Amino acid sequence: MRVFDHPDFDDHEQVVFCSDSESGLRAIIAVHDTTLGPALGGCRMWPYASDEEALRDVLRLSRGMTYKSAMAGLPLGGGKSVIIGNPRTGKSEALLRAMGRNVERLNGRYIVAEDSGTGVPDIQAMATETAHVSGIFEKPTADGGARNGDPSPATAYGVFVGLKAAVRHRLDRGDLDGLTVAIQGVGSVGAHLARHLREAGARLWIADIDREQVRRVAEELDAVPVGVDEIFDLQVDVFAPCALGAILNDDTVARLNAPVVAGAANNQLAVAHHGRALFDRGILYAPDYVINAGGVIDVHYERAGYDHGRVLRHIESIGGTLAEIFERSDAERLPTAAVADRIARQRIENARAR
Ligand code: NAD
Repeated sequence: MRVFDHPDFDDHEQVVFCSDSESGLRAIIAVHDTTLGPALGGCRMWPYASDEEALRDVLRLSRGMTYKSAMAGLPLGGGKSVIIGNPRTGKSEALLRAMGRNVERLNGRYIVAEDSGTGVPDIQAMATETAHVSGIFEKPTADGGARNGDPSPATAYGVFVGLKAAVRHRLDRGDLDGLTVAIQGVGSVGAHLARHLREAGARLWIADIDREQVRRVAEELDAVPVGVDEIFDLQVDVFAPCALGAILNDDTVARLNAPVVAGAANNQLAVAHHGRALFDRGILYAPDYVINAGGVIDVHYERAGYDHGRVLRHIESIGGTLAEIFERSDAERLPTAAVADRIARQRIENARAR
């Protein structure tokens, strides 16, 4: 297996292969960059077909976290971990604790949180072995209640704010009343986003491979359920990808009929040049790691002192960051993704030079 000359290897500071024969743990932790602070990023559990596939995912995701935190103005670096296994059948207390011990061995250079395939109880199990965890603490809410560490509502709020900034820029609209939005994936983030949009008066089309979930959300929000392939072709104002990565590819970019793409999914561009393809088609793309930073902002404040108003204000700054990216993209005739990458790299370089 290639590591140092892997196409997704980007001078990662550390790539740690972890195994524990007793529990069957096979995992990889990638610490991409700690210039701005400790590398915070979720732990994904997935039945990867090969070690190579797991390595590719963790290299790409950890780099994405460096850029995400840099663009969100957080004192954090980028890291991520993957456990190779089926999240439904492959978890045990012993395996999660073994993962916690591996996180502990990095002495705080990596802070673990939830990702696809792991939830609050899993990170709590890891926390019995390490203090370098986040995304699990109870937090106060605006209505005086409390909620657990799940960052999805914060991510969805950030996407909502970012989507509004994109609509303002591309469609010159200050309100969402009657705006038409197609949401791909109405899981944790997609469903919360759908609620925000509905409340603001938008009309929704939704698709999900989980038919029961589509039915529930459609009924709750008076949304129109559509097929998982059909969602790309709709004549709507906004396409909001909230399911998988790599969904902006040669096929789908050519098919999209929406002038704005703004959604939560990580790694939406199949290959970097799809950012240019969207730009050339006149589609305004809100770079994924900028618009979906609400979750990492929320998780950061769990460790830095949680104040609901402060967290909301920080998440709302995503709108201003995107507006700046959109303006520079117009002025320099550069795809928005390229502009975001450049700003993020610059912030890290500046910190390194200090
Ligand atoms: P989730 O698993 O709760 O929801 C994803 C939904 O997408 C599920 O309902 C699933 O059935 C559906 N789906 C899967 N394949 C699909 C397909 N081909 N077509 C339509 N629907 C499909 O995950 P989530 O936490 O809501 O995250 C959604 C996306 O946002 C992921 O890409 C995730 O990496 C990203 N993200 C999430 C967070 C967070 O705080 N949860 C933060 C940043 C980024």
